[in-house]
Amino acid sequence: EAKARGRRQAQFFCMAMDEKAQRRIALEDGLRQALAQRAMHLVYQPQISLRTHQITGVEALLRWSSPRFGNVSPAEFIPVAEEAGLIRDIGLWVLETACTAAHQLPAGLLVAVNLSACQFDDELLVDKILEVVARSGLPAERLELEITESVFLKDTEDVLTALHRLRAAGIRIALDDFGVGYSSLAYLRSFPFHKLKIDRSFVMAILQSAESQAIVRSVIDLASALHMETTAEGIETAEQAALLTQLACTTGQGYHFARPLPLEAATAFAATHLAPGA
Ligand code: C2E
Ligand code: MG
Ligand code: MG
Ligand code: MG
Repeated sequence: EAKARGRRQAQFFCMAMDEKAQRRIALEDGLRQALAQRAMHLVYQPQISLRTHQITGVEALLRWSSPRFGNVSPAEFIPVAEEAGLIRDIGLWVLETACTAAHQLPAGLLVAVNLSACQFDDELLVDKILEVVARSGLPAERLELEITESVFLKDTEDVLTALHRLRAAGIRIALDDFGVGYSSLAYLRSFPFHKLKIDRSFVMAILQSAESQAIVRSVIDLASALHMETTAEGIETAEQAALLTQLACTTGQGYHFARPLPLEAATAFAATHLAPGA
């Protein structure tokens, strides 16, 4: 009986794996087509100054609606694109689209674009980025590239060289999902980021957990001492926003202020959240 049950479970496990593998292959196929047909789009989530409540920028986030699977979360399809070697092309398309879209936003706003660690495997990454930015006509100072600590699992020397070149060109560099990665603090010493983005998991717990609050407070103080800005990710309530304002976090991003929006809606939001006279 136990043996039979074990066999059934093993069988069930294998079928689950099989289904997962099949979905993955189908997703990869779908992504390849979507990339070829440019059948993806970006949404833009506002970032808000916690001091003045004015919009400071937007983060471009990739959306894919697959004919077969419907809306697939980037949390699922980005890793597939990375393993399939599609992320380089997708990443450049995202950059080009976001830089072009920026022309429709008020001139003072930053545009943040996520870079996958895999894109750093490309020796020509920096040249390609600079070329796309130049072609778009967007002043480099308005572009902020978001990277995660996982880039430092790569050849650190090469990554640092690339980051320094981007920075020298005027592009801002933000460290995304800060706090959930690897030995975070060493990287702060090796590269002067413009901004740390405090991961949503800390922000989510900030009112209930004294530990989370202490960590967020320390990260904000540390960033400030190192002349870096901070953005709190995933602010969902007025209470979280108030506490982060009190802790002197620079900017906030989250459903409390605005969801990721289509370009037209983001432009309309920006128009009503600008500094007077800006
Ligand atoms: P991320 O860069 O940390 O982006 C923030 C994520 O938090 C976004 O999820 C956003 O929609 C979500 N978010 C924002 N405010 C709130 C909130 O108040 N509550 C909750 N629950 N969520 C909030 P999204 O768009 O699903 O993207 C997930 C991740 O996928 C991103 O995390 C990023 O790592 C990756 N991603 C998205 N677009 C791109 C892209 O163009 N290129 C690359 N390489 N990665 C991307
Ligand atoms: Mg991001
Ligand atoms: Mg993030
Ligand atoms: Mg995050």
